[in-house]
Amino acid sequence: MKDYTCLLEELKINGNFRQFPEVTHSGKWIEKEGHRMLNLSSNDYLGLATRQDLRATFMEQLADTDLPFSSSSSRLLTGNFAIYKDLEKLISERFGRESALLFNSGYHANTGILPALADKQTLIIADKLVHASIIDGILLSGAPFTRYKHNDYEQLERLLAKASGQYEQVIIVTESVFSMDGDVADLPHLVALKKKYKDTLLYVDEAHAIGVYGSDGLGIAEEQHCIGDIDLLVGTFGKALASMGAYLLCSRVIRDYLINTMRPLIFSTALPPVQIAWSRFLFEKLPDFSSERRQLFRKSRKLSEKLNGKGGEISNSHIIPFIIGENEACIQKALELQRKGFYCLPVRPPTVPKGTSRIRFSLTANITDEEINELIMLL
Ligand code: PMP
Repeated sequence: MKDYTCLLEELKINGNFRQFPEVTHSGKWIEKEGHRMLNLSSNDYLGLATRQDLRATFMEQLADTDLPFSSSSSRLLTGNFAIYKDLEKLISERFGRESALLFNSGYHANTGILPALADKQTLIIADKLVHASIIDGILLSGAPFTRYKHNDYEQLERLLAKASGQYEQVIIVTESVFSMDGDVADLPHLVALKKKYKDTLLYVDEAHAIGVYGSDGLGIAEEQHCIGDIDLLVGTFGKALASMGAYLLCSRVIRDYLINTMRPLIFSTALPPVQIAWSRFLFEKLPDFSSERRQLFRKSRKLSEKLNGKGGEISNSHIIPFIIGENEACIQKALELQRKGFYCLPVRPPTVPKGTSRIRFSLTANITDEEINELIMLL
């Protein structure tokens, strides 16, 4: 039998042992063992999850509905409510795309879409730094795959040229804002490549960008003017949109095909209709949050400039790495910042490559200039 106690000991020795932090939340603050800290590790990028006014308005509206707190079933059985279709319609209209499909989470989306669409005749080519959920989706698909160096489109083009004519189709997979480095993909470049090489689809995960970029908050695809050219455009509700779930923008045919073949969609109870109503409530308001987007961008630049040479130069977004190197030093630095009132967390291998353990600052729009200045002084 495997000795799991011993395996856990090994994790501890290597500084890789993980535990759920015992914390309580109060707006942008987090409290641990009676010590209050500014939360610099949240994905609530626009600060919407802590907005009491939005919550109060939503609850008032909700009181006039009979939306249940459970769908009690997969959408394909008895769990399909009008609110799902409403939200899909709103999303597809906003993006100006043929159709949208909702999922229970980004993890469901990324582990379900690729296995449904790809087979042995499909080559998947993914950026080296795509999120674990995408890697899991690729592995589950059983399709042949290869990876290109992070954002290295010359290497990607060589791989596309080599694959040309060898497969029924090729799927290029990338994130737009990368979750650990906070840098941004050049989507028009990827669109040009996918158009140049026949039978190639482009899959983009905007989990960290939806709500935060673009004048209407529709993400990097909006900012880089290529919404209509991305075959499979994924976004999530659990970060800037302060809710839970994910969506895909795609053609009607792909949507129908996924409904027929995508296992996490078919075999899992759909999100509660109440949750979908909250997602819809916030998604509808996205264009109104441009001042939050501006604030977030300005403060992010301030911090990344300060961390120039230590990881800040890599970032082009509100996710800013402070690369320290070894695990133990990284843990100690995070603890020191926590003692001084800033809740930030060490990110270690296997989440990031060995020797690049880092503190990952993830800023939110409701952090003040004074707070950023204080953090900068400490760094
Ligand atoms: N995609 C990316 C790029 C992510 O960073 C994450 C989660 N951090 C996900 C997908 C998963 O989304 P969810 O949390 O909704 O499962």
